[in-house]
Amino acid sequence: MEKVMSLPKEVYQALLKVVGPENIADRPHILAALRHTNPQSGRQPPSPAAVIMPGSVEEVREIVRICNRHGVRYNAVVSMFGMGGVVSQPGMLVISLRRMNRIIEINEFDRYAVIEPAVRQVQLKAEVFKRGLTYPTASAGPSCSVLANFLTSGDHHTQQSSSRCSRYLLGYEWVTPTGEIVRVGSLAHGAGWFCPDGPGPSLRGLVRGYGGWGGGLGIVTRIAIGLDDWKGPRVLTTQGHSPDYKIPFPPDCHRVFIFKFPTLEKVRDAMTEMGKAEIGQAVLKFFYATEAVLFTVSANDFRDLWNSGLYQRELPRALWVYLAAWTPEELAYEERVMRDIVEEFGGEPVDASITRKYEENMDFFILVSFLQRVLKLGGGWSPTKLGADSIHHMFEVAAAIPEFFYDFIEKGRILDAPHNFQVIPMEYGHAAHIELLFFFDNQRPDWQQIPAEVMQKSMESDIRHGFHAATPPRVKAVMERLGPLYSNFQVWTNKIKETFDPNNVSNPGPG
Ligand SMILES: Cc1cc2nc3c(=O)[nH]c(=O)nc-3n(C[C@H](O)[C@H](O)[C@H](O)COP(=O)(O)OP(=O)(O)OC[C@H]3O[C@@H](n4cnc5c(N)ncnc54)[C@H](O)[C@@H]3O)c2cc1C
Repeated sequence: MEKVMSLPKEVYQALLKVVGPENIADRPHILAALRHTNPQSGRQPPSPAAVIMPGSVEEVREIVRICNRHGVRYNAVVSMFGMGGVVSQPGMLVISLRRMNRIIEINEFDRYAVIEPAVRQVQLKAEVFKRGLTYPTASAGPSCSVLANFLTSGDHHTQQSSSRCSRYLLGYEWVTPTGEIVRVGSLAHGAGWFCPDGPGPSLRGLVRGYGGWGGGLGIVTRIAIGLDDWKGPRVLTTQGHSPDYKIPFPPDCHRVFIFKFPTLEKVRDAMTEMGKAEIGQAVLKFFYATEAVLFTVSANDFRDLWNSGLYQRELPRALWVYLAAWTPEELAYEERVMRDIVEEFGGEPVDASITRKYEENMDFFILVSFLQRVLKLGGGWSPTKLGADSIHHMFEVAAAIPEFFYDFIEKGRILDAPHNFQVIPMEYGHAAHIELLFFFDNQRPDWQQIPAEVMQKSMESDIRHGFHAATPPRVKAVMERLGPLYSNFQVWTNKIKETFDPNNVSNPGPG
């Protein structure tokens, strides 16, 4: 068994006094459960020293103050679905926010919801649907924390008609790394939760830039998020049981189309035109191998589908379009505009069996309930790129993928799926996001090096070309190398961290 660093007795006792004995533990079998990351990750995460579960903002503040007094490093987590492991260094304190799981308010008039950290996607989505409302929902699966996603990540399938989650973050309540409670935006002036900015400079960018801090800048205990109209049914009808279930939507107002184009440039141009015409609840170029994983129920099923060659024939240069309308007439209008654009760029429908999968599982566009299937291959997978810029630039980045990717394929180190990248426009094409996913066999002796090597080559390609294609991870050496491409953001990041977290206790990162 791994040797676990413990907290000094007096620190443990001080923490216990804040939450009571039932909400703190340092027993080995409990800590063992916190040492795991997703099976595809090659890392063996370090062990925390203890885990504590506060129930209120005041308890969070007290815990953070104790950590500062004793130099104990901490990280706040909810469902731990992220791929990095729970703590970045051995001997840290895990602050599990799972008890703070209340929806505080759903304001239908001003269209925002106020939530605590452990409110899950599946919990909030159902409540807002009932009221004819929705919000941008990352394709991270139903069990994930809405708040954690709004703070750290937030790209999703329907950002054509909305945006990244971070753009919907309104007022927030924040326990700073040293243990001060700060209320930001309109909240600071007693005006409610509706706005992220009060008078004076905006503080939203402190906790949430493009990438987020991953627990490195204190703990956010409540946020308000903006809500949109929901054009779909207020209660979803499910047929069957997992893993064989269907969630269809009323076809008179909801339809899915997938078109293949002769070149990637035509995909780009069709995507751009759909943005200009402001049509489509969702428009995206999606991953073809990941799709094959998502829509099959076992590794063997995946192999059969992939080896049939259908997806390689139909999907490398395809565009997915989901139209959602209030009335059949509105749907007919959007469909006509879409068909004109598709015709102009030489698109044609893909094999109907592929489109049918989406028609039967419209949850793909709202809350990918079958996302965990991505983990089922029993092998490894990893993403790279994860950046955003214009649609045009994202396709330039895509065109350069073969420069470094084929080498890994030819050596048999990753699955032969060179088109397994997605480009998703946001705000009707005012920006777009790119992500490249690759699969590998985790029985290979060198498998743990594969993700790092692909990411390294991807970064070198970005630097060579001057691409804005990545979300730089919070790893100092990488930030220094990529920083010049992003206005030397690392200089500001370091200054903010030093100013707000002088003791460097809030998830300091691996170094
Ligand atoms: C298969 C897979 C697919 C994914 N697809 C997507 C996707 O399409 N889009 C997308 O956006 N993301 C995606 N992700 C990443 C995903 O967004 C995050 O893992 C998830 O949203 C985080 O929720 P969580 O409950 O697991 O949070 P956790 O993993 O518990 O926390 C995530 C991070 O936020 C920090 N954090 C949590 N709560 C707080 C708080 N209250 N205050 C300060 N910091 C906090 C944590 O320290 C941690 O660094 C995917 C991940 C996987 C494994």
